[in-house]
Order: sequence, then C-alpha cells, then structure tokens
Amino acid sequence: PTRQDVINFAAGPAGMATDVVEEYAKDFVNFQNLGMGVGEISHRSKEGTGIVNRTEQTLRKMYGLPDNFRILFMQGGGTEQFAAVLYNVYAHHALYNPNAKELVANYIVTGSWSKKALNEAQRLGFRCHVACDTRDLTGKYGCLPKESDLNYTPAGQTSLVYWCDNETIHGVEFNEPPPNIPKGAIRVCDASSNFISRRIDFSKHDIIFAGAQKNAGPAGITMVFVRDFILERALVPDLHKLGIPVSTTMGDYKLMADSNSLYNTLPIPTLHAINLGLQYMEKKGGLPFLEQCSSKKSHMVYTVLDKYPIYENFVDSSARSRMNVTFRIINQDLENEFLVGAEKLHMMQLKGHRSIGGIRVSLYNAITVEQTERLVQYLEKFGAEHST
Ligand code: PLP
Repeated sequence: PTRQDVINFAAGPAGMATDVVEEYAKDFVNFQNLGMGVGEISHRSKEGTGIVNRTEQTLRKMYGLPDNFRILFMQGGGTEQFAAVLYNVYAHHALYNPNAKELVANYIVTGSWSKKALNEAQRLGFRCHVACDTRDLTGKYGCLPKESDLNYTPAGQTSLVYWCDNETIHGVEFNEPPPNIPKGAIRVCDASSNFISRRIDFSKHDIIFAGAQKNAGPAGITMVFVRDFILERALVPDLHKLGIPVSTTMGDYKLMADSNSLYNTLPIPTLHAINLGLQYMEKKGGLPFLEQCSSKKSHMVYTVLDKYPIYENFVDSSARSRMNVTFRIINQDLENEFLVGAEKLHMMQLKGHRSIGGIRVSLYNAITVEQTERLVQYLEKFGAEHST
C-alpha cells in the first residue's frame, strides 16, 4: 500500500502528515542547500542552533507561553522525566528548606503511566504518597478522581503533585488540572500523549513534559515547559550535605536551560521534524483548530461505540480520552476478526496495549476527520453485523 491508502492509528510513535514527512525527507538529503542533510550538521552550527531556536519560538507562539516559562528539549523520553522532575523539584525546595528531604511527593494515579512515575519515585528513594489511585475506587482504571477522592499531604509538607493528563494505555484524560493542590507544591503534569491537542492554562501548572512521538513528531526528544523559579536551586555540595539525591547531568533542568538544550549532542533531525510538524499544524489553525478536531474525531468514535452493545468501553463518560479510545469487543474471537478486517482496509495498529488487551484507536493530530469517518463506517458495519 501507499501512504495514502494507510490509516495509522498507532498509540505512538504515531503517524505524521505526509506533507511534513516529504518536506523532512528533502531536508534529510540536502538541508538549506548546504549539500548536507539535516542529520549531518553540527548541533552547534548556525543551522543547528537555528533549528533549536525556531522550534522554541514555534512552541512559544503556539501556546502563548508566558515569559516566566522556559522550554527545554531533553532526551531519555517521558520515562527520564519521571526521575528528572523529582531531582529538580527537590533541589529547588532545598534552597529554602533544610528539611526538604522530608517533603512528600504526591501522586494521582489514574492509569499505568502515572503508576510508573510513582514507582520510579519510590525506586529512587523519595518519600511518596498516593493522593488517589482510581483503581482503588472502582477496581480498574477508567475514571478521574472527584474532589473528595483527593487526599494530599498538607501544604508545607508536599514537594510536588504529579498527574498524567492523558493515560495512553487506559484512555483516561483529565479535563482540567486536579483541584485543591496544596500551596507551595510544584504542579507536575505528564502531557506526553495529549500535548499539542488543546490549549493549556499555564497558571495551573509548574512543569509540563511531553515526548514528541504522539502529536508532535518522531521519537527522541521530550519537550519540557518549566517555570523559571524552579531553576533556582541549592548547589550540589549542599544537596550532598542535606542527603538529597543529585540529578544526572542530562536530567538537570538548569544545565539544560543555561546551554539552550545543547549541553550535549541533541538529535537535531528529530527536532527539525518536530518543528516542521508544528509549523504545519499552526498553518492549519493551531491549537484552537486541533482542539476542535480532537473533540470531533473522538466524539464520532464514542458515538458509534455507544450505539452497539458488542462494544464495551470501560472509561467513565466524564474521563474519556480524546486521544486514545479504548474498548473491548464482547468476545476475543470477534476482536481478532475486527483487527483482521481493519487491516484489510489498511487501518493499522488498532490492537490495544499488551497489558490490557482489546482495541485502542489513537486519534492524534495526523489522523484526519475523513480518516476517522472511514473507521466509524467500519465500526458501524461490524457492529450491525454482529448484533442480533
Ligand atoms: N507518559 C505517557 C503518558 C506515555 O504515553 C508514555 C509513552 O507512551 C510515557 C510517559 C513514556 O514515554 P517514553 O517512552 O518516551 O519514555
């Protein structure tokens, strides 16, 4: 099949717009008429730093990012950020609080990714508290905590409050940041799988991180938005004295900010692909347009799922993700039949995550309304055929 035939519903790395891929392919061969490809130039050359600066400008403009936020381009994926946020937040608290080591990192667990972040904090020896685990409320992940479910440690004792804005595996998405966060706690949001899909209220966040490989471009770079005051932090010898773990060099936000994300060799080609993708999305109408499209596409899919009882969706209607629609078909054989039939129509990568099974439809920015319509027609046909 050609790119035009295939609809790639992968949960990440996700598909990219063909126009962007084609432009990138040209630049991979010969960038800015240098006679060298974008993967063959120094990250410190004028062209290399140009890509870093332009991508930052594109993101700033797209989000209307307040001046007191810095943008870092980091490596190691979202997974590295599970650790990096802790090192950096504790180093910041340690500047003012000699007992910073005693502060407690609060986690709101709504699915596998927030759970993994909690596990990393525990593994690294930070004090942790689960402000809510929604699986404890209902026996499975598929809802958001209500205000009364959130049980934080008190202000003054809380280092950070962490949540995952969109749980990619379970298909659970916050509609807005969690309420009643204790004063003084740094608000940390993993937006890996719903970044670039809606506007963000920056007054309610301190750190937001997101890997590129869902809505923005290929894998290899994690974008981190961080409030500048967090970069003020205790020096390494003081952290040693206070018994607070020190970040690796590559996880150190201040080093990254001071070096314009060029402390070591940044994957410039990945960043260039991201910037081409962002500019393309800006031209289409930017975040307001993407927000509208995401709601529309997901609404189309949920509507047909609700229509046929053979489709089982476990996610509360108030927590349904616009990015990853997860569901089961009443029996395993039908699930296989569904996937085989979809592939015949070139609708690819619809199998649910190995940990929960079922079907997962990822509707990231490269999926168009027309492509979603094709899936909806298939869901309609399959639903009608198998309903008695
Ligand atoms: N957080 C979320 C919500 C994710 O979906 C993922 C990966 O899919 C990660 C974190 C981990 O990202 P990475 O694989 O880039 O480390």
